[in-house]
Amino acid sequence: MADPDTLQRRGLMFILSSPSGAGKTTIARRLLAEQGAALRLSVSVTTRPMRPGEIDGRDYFFVDRAEFDRMVEADEFMEWAEVFGNCYGTPKAHIRDELKRGEDFLFDIDWQGTQQLYQRAQGDVVRVFLLPPSIEALEARLRGRGTDSDAVIEARMARARAEISHWDAYDYVVINDDVEACFGRVKMILEAERMRRLRQTGLIDFVRELTR
Ligand code: 5GP
Repeated sequence: MADPDTLQRRGLMFILSSPSGAGKTTIARRLLAEQGAALRLSVSVTTRPMRPGEIDGRDYFFVDRAEFDRMVEADEFMEWAEVFGNCYGTPKAHIRDELKRGEDFLFDIDWQGTQQLYQRAQGDVVRVFLLPPSIEALEARLRGRGTDSDAVIEARMARARAEISHWDAYDYVVINDDVEACFGRVKMILEAERMRRLRQTGLIDFVRELTR
C-alpha cells in the first residue's frame, strides 16, 4: 500500500513575509520546531549587526559589506535586497538539488526577495503574508520588544506600512490575531501545498500501478 508520505515529491519554497512585529518569527520558529527535518530554514546572509540572543549560522550568517559584495559579484545569491540600510541575501547553496530530492525550505524574507524568488522559481514557490490584526497591535508589539528607541520605532512603523502595501503580491494572507490560530492556518497551507498534483512527481508511477 502506498504511503502518501513516501511517494516521490518535489520540495517547495515556503516564503513567510510580514511587516516587522506581526509575529512572523514566532510562527517560523514554531513551524521549524514542529516539522523537524521535514522543513529546513534557508539561513540568510546579512550585513546587519548581530542582536542579543542571535547565533551566527542559525539566525543569519553575519558578514561585513565587503564579503557581501563579493558574494553578489560571485553570483552566490538566489536573491538579495537592501533593507533598512543593511543587506540581506538568500545563499544559493544546495537549494536547487535538494528541492529535486523533495526537501522543503522555509524563507523568512521580505517582499523584494519574494518577488525575485518567484521570478526565478515560480512553480516551487508558495508565498504567505502575515498581517497584524490592527496598526495599534503592531505598534504595541514593536514597543514590547523594549530594545529600540522612539525614533527607531517610528521608522519601523513607517516601514511596516510600506510592507503591508505589498499584501497583494502573495498567494495567501493570514491575519495574526491569535498565534495558535495563525499557526494552525499556516500549517494547513503548507500541508495542502505539499499535496499539489504537480509537486507529487511519484504519482505517475503510482497511478499506473493502480490502474494496471
Ligand atoms: P531583521 O533585520 O529584523 O532580522 O530583518 C529585516 C527584514 O529583512 C525582514 O523583513 C526579513 O524578512 C528580511 N530578510 C531577512 N533575510 C532576508 C533575505 O535573505 N532576503 C530578503 N530579501 N529579505 C530578508
